[in-house]
Amino acid sequence: MKIATGHIIHESNTFAPGTTPLGAFVIRRGDEIVREHTGAHTEVTGFLEGAVTHVFELAPMFSATATPSAIVTAGAFDWLADELVSALRAAGKIDGILLALHGAFVSENHPNADAEFARRVREAFGPDMPIVLTHDPHSSIGEDVVRQVNALVIYKTNPHLDQRQIGLQAAGIIAGMVRGAVKPVMAYRSLPMMINIVHQHTSAPPLRDLWRALQVYEQQAGVLAASMSLCYQYSDVPAMGNAVVVVTDNNQAQADAIADELAAKLWALREELAVHIPTVHDAVAQAMDAAQQKQTPQVIVDIGDNVGGGSAADGTFILTELLAQRADGWVVTLADPKAVQACTMAGIGATLSLDVGGATDEMHGAPVRVTGRVKCLHDGRYEERAARHGGVRWGNQGLCALLELAAPAPGGEASYILLTTARAAPMSLHQLQSVGIEPGYMKILTVKAAIAWKAAYEPIMAGFVVADTPGATQVNPKRWHYRNVRKNLFGLEGWP
Ligand SMILES: [Zn+2]
Repeated sequence: MKIATGHIIHESNTFAPGTTPLGAFVIRRGDEIVREHTGAHTEVTGFLEGAVTHVFELAPMFSATATPSAIVTAGAFDWLADELVSALRAAGKIDGILLALHGAFVSENHPNADAEFARRVREAFGPDMPIVLTHDPHSSIGEDVVRQVNALVIYKTNPHLDQRQIGLQAAGIIAGMVRGAVKPVMAYRSLPMMINIVHQHTSAPPLRDLWRALQVYEQQAGVLAASMSLCYQYSDVPAMGNAVVVVTDNNQAQADAIADELAAKLWALREELAVHIPTVHDAVAQAMDAAQQKQTPQVIVDIGDNVGGGSAADGTFILTELLAQRADGWVVTLADPKAVQACTMAGIGATLSLDVGGATDEMHGAPVRVTGRVKCLHDGRYEERAARHGGVRWGNQGLCALLELAAPAPGGEASYILLTTARAAPMSLHQLQSVGIEPGYMKILTVKAAIAWKAAYEPIMAGFVVADTPGATQVNPKRWHYRNVRKNLFGLEGWP
């Protein structure tokens, strides 16, 4: 038995200015895919391990991944779609296809590009080819994608820690199909609601119990997968919202009944999903108060500049407030290639004044003038072996510089601005440890994220506060301007 894989991952923020070109994608084929995912915790790691467990030959044909960002150009989409199909064809005679797509890929020519990738693969290989698809729960799932594949399985955790298991599950389903042991059928339900990302933590209330119930459903005889999307709220597309997908072994009535139950339970949660978070000023004051009482480190979440949600990564609202309130012992990370260059030219140990951040667009605050000493220069590569959000093993934030700022008052501690060349989401403490910062020693850490950061930071933090920062990933419905989503979507409307 030979199974080919295709892997295309992009989460497209339709509110981020500009477009994402093909050059933003890292393309891998064959052994490069095996090397990247061996020892990691991704769905492709699960496919690789599933091939051993379920005894089939896996042909890893094509992988294209990019950091979340603005919508993808039509040219890049067309190239990726053509390459995906021709790479899968190049695998020769195959018995099935494992596809790993994000579910929130938006291109200039396709509002639900992942459905179009799946449609083209189906068209190329015909109605009898077994195709099992995996998705990130930050997805906009329409009926169009469900029609193209035999089974869809979605990660059940956020932070995403079960991607490897989902890959294994998908591998088990396709092996069962090819051997004639199972015949997947699916039930799909779309809900007229969206869970604000503030609440999308699957191991905390209000979502915890319902998301845990998915595993209980999967223990029922005949259930191959029970999944729900959390929704990807930064996608202004018609399919945006929550969805339920249940896969059973040739029992449509069972799939329908479970899908209806899950949809009803999710709908019943909606009143618990209102958003109340403090202003940036209050969030910084709250973190400083807690730090004063020796409850450290405190984490301030810059949710409007959530890099993993496609924002600029150079937002300065929290930096500005930390400086205004004369906080000490903090770390802020900013993607700012020009500032990295300036620090590199100055050299380690040099003191310089420069503008940092706020350079990408008009959404994430103004550049901030700071004076600091270049403490460290680093190539930006680090390794994470633990299962952290996304399951990636190799991190790369590009050439980076650590700028040390003197304490604002005698007796205070130094603060740090980590300037990076690439936009890198805070999924691993090694992002800071690689440049010599011990996160546990700091008073205040800041993360440009929503929920994903918790897998890495929860073990060491004393507390956290989410700040209502503006930006491409802002969560305050009062600031949103949607045009293409369905009418009366609960979560966009319905809360004060
Ligand atoms: Zn996600």
